[in-house]
Amino acid sequence: MRSFRSRVGQGEDEKYHTELVLHYVDQAVRLSEGRGDGVGTAEWGEGHEVRGRLQDLLTSSSHYQPHPVLARLQGTNLHIETAAVYGRLGEHEKALSMLVHQVKDFSAAEQYCIAQTKGADPTAKSDIFIKLLRIYLRPPPGGSEEDIELAQAIDLLTVHAGDLDVAAVLNIIPPHWSISIVHHYLRAALRNTIHQSRIKRLQQTLIRSENLQQKFIYYKLCRDLGPIPLATNRICCVCNRGFTECQFTIYPNGVTAHLTCAPDPSVCPLTGTVFKAATSAPTTSTSASYQYS
Ligand SMILES: [Zn+2]
Repeated sequence: MRSFRSRVGQGEDEKYHTELVLHYVDQAVRLSEGRGDGVGTAEWGEGHEVRGRLQDLLTSSSHYQPHPVLARLQGTNLHIETAAVYGRLGEHEKALSMLVHQVKDFSAAEQYCIAQTKGADPTAKSDIFIKLLRIYLRPPPGGSEEDIELAQAIDLLTVHAGDLDVAAVLNIIPPHWSISIVHHYLRAALRNTIHQSRIKRLQQTLIRSENLQQKFIYYKLCRDLGPIPLATNRICCVCNRGFTECQFTIYPNGVTAHLTCAPDPSVCPLTGTVFKAATSAPTTSTSASYQYS
């Protein structure tokens, strides 16, 4: 019942968000069409405000249906909004091409890449910036080599050196480019690669050291406790049932429990005593519990 209700709720959200987006689109189109007829600055300001609201809604809402919105935007001059809907559909190439070739808003194209890859892994980030670089280096439909956005491509390489995969960049930059054009990019990219590799090495060392500590704790517990005989009449202190499997937790005070009944191995479920993991001192009554499995 709950899932049916939530589906109904989602459907209603989608309907209202879509209607609101379409309303803003119509309003923005009407105000932008009237702009050429000598309307005053008040209407221009209103149009600007409506477009701002529409753009906010298109980037923040995940509830509107993109296809009807895209159909309504076709043929209008609302290019930034159209790019946002392409983004929602995952059609980054179309979105970026529109921002670069039609709107010529390079900062919006860069912001688009940043917004679309928020929290994404480095590969996804590089993929979208590589798409933008490819668009900069490709003439627009019907254009010539002179129309490529060379300056923007070099800017992108300089500003986002750390985000662009070196192999992918070398694959798409024109073969006639001299080393001096990509010199800054290569230096920054190399620095970033070395930095990343150092961080990885450091993380591996930390993990190895943590593993070693755990192994030491395990060794000490095994040595001090030895094999734990589990009598047939022994029961779990939480549910009072016996043990049918060889998985259980034994606390330093001798209390035993099922793993599922006592998920926190540092707190005795019977007495509430908190045990701390002993890492260097010999196992005493305050050492950690041990989960046998
Ligand atoms: Zn139990």
